[in-house]
Amino acid sequence: MRVIVINSGSSSIKYETFDLNGLSSASKGILERVGTPDSRLKHRWLSSSGTWKEIVETRPVADHREGFSFIFEVSSRAQSGSMETEVFAVGHRVVHGGEKFREPVIIDDTVLRTIEELIPLAPLHNPANVRGIKVMQDLLPRVRQVAVFDTAFHQTMPPMAFHYALPYDLYQSAGVRRYGFHGSSHQYVAKEASRYLGIPFDKLNLITLHLGNGASATAIEKGKSVDTSMGLTPLEGLIMGTRCGDLDPAVHFYLARKTGRSFEEIEDILNRESGLTGICGTNDMRDIQSRANGGDAQAALALEMFCYRVKKYIGAYYAALGSVDAIVFTGGIGENSAIVRNKSCEGLAGIGIIPDVRRNNAADNGVREIQAENSRVKILVIPTDEEREIAKQTIEVIEIENRKDSTIGDTMSSHKEHNDRK
Ligand code: AMP
Repeated sequence: MRVIVINSGSSSIKYETFDLNGLSSASKGILERVGTPDSRLKHRWLSSSGTWKEIVETRPVADHREGFSFIFEVSSRAQSGSMETEVFAVGHRVVHGGEKFREPVIIDDTVLRTIEELIPLAPLHNPANVRGIKVMQDLLPRVRQVAVFDTAFHQTMPPMAFHYALPYDLYQSAGVRRYGFHGSSHQYVAKEASRYLGIPFDKLNLITLHLGNGASATAIEKGKSVDTSMGLTPLEGLIMGTRCGDLDPAVHFYLARKTGRSFEEIEDILNRESGLTGICGTNDMRDIQSRANGGDAQAALALEMFCYRVKKYIGAYYAALGSVDAIVFTGGIGENSAIVRNKSCEGLAGIGIIPDVRRNNAADNGVREIQAENSRVKILVIPTDEEREIAKQTIEVIEIENRKDSTIGDTMSSHKEHNDRK
């Protein structure tokens, strides 16, 4: 039996399958440019000889329904058994769960309707998530589908952290508050840190830094998120590949008045043309580092700004937590860029955060510590695996449901026995 994890985006579908037994990855892939004549599917699978194989195919794919059929067809051709057989459950990444969902849930009509009602909060993401769920429900009608929300892990934030200082009525009537995202990633690396450090999860204080094309920081107190850098939308907080992060809200009105740009144009600038791209023209940290190395002033500025913002959040979350067991770097940049890790921790010796140059530069792919001997706070690098976390949570929620069912079954049969005896 296997679990399929789906991340259905507006123009792409990412997926991974895991064997229920031991949760090892069996296949994964990405279909890009959905809705165009040249959709490209890259499918990888673990062959019977234990090596990963890969197939790449391009064809017109009109929509998500055709996309999933394409994925199933290619996977069944590539593997001996097709992907849609022996499926225990499907776990869907859903970006926005609002205040409605604090945990993963098995999807029924009410859940699906609620996710749809949350679309105004995530107009770029939730519609594509819903599309993925509906297609999978049609293709695998007897298989349970679970929604795992990016926002759920942060629902433990206290009111002082999640409220904006806006008229309270805007929270009550329109749900304007901070929600936070990247929950599965922060939760996954936090659990890995707990395992690695041998400290129980509910006793662990961490600052987790997910630094990829999207980037966010989370303060975790005793295993619970108590603050996070993304807000109502993923635009707030750290500097990202193309998103600006924290900004004076007045920039918005000023730009509209001064340049006559529309609402949508400004939204586009802040989401797609800002961040690293806005400063130096690219969102690829590898290019930025090598350009900065070669003396490119714009690239150097982008790098400095990115790391300075991370450092400010480390300081703020240190203050919020009072004591920190470890800082965790993850995401494409956090896992791979020694320069970013070093610069983000520069000058923090006063609060016990001291990276070690040799350990930080060592090429390694697994969980590792990079702090100096005299660093009070551990500094960890932990590869994230959001898909595995979604698979784990999917299995857990179904097992809980199965236990409930069997308890109800037991109760009913003991009632029956009792009545029979009477
Ligand atoms: P993600 O969104 O997590 O896949 O991360 C994408 C970001 O990670 C991009 O900015 C990449 O340039 C960056 N990245 C990937 N590998 C490296 C590397 N070896 N050094 C620096 N940045 C990297």
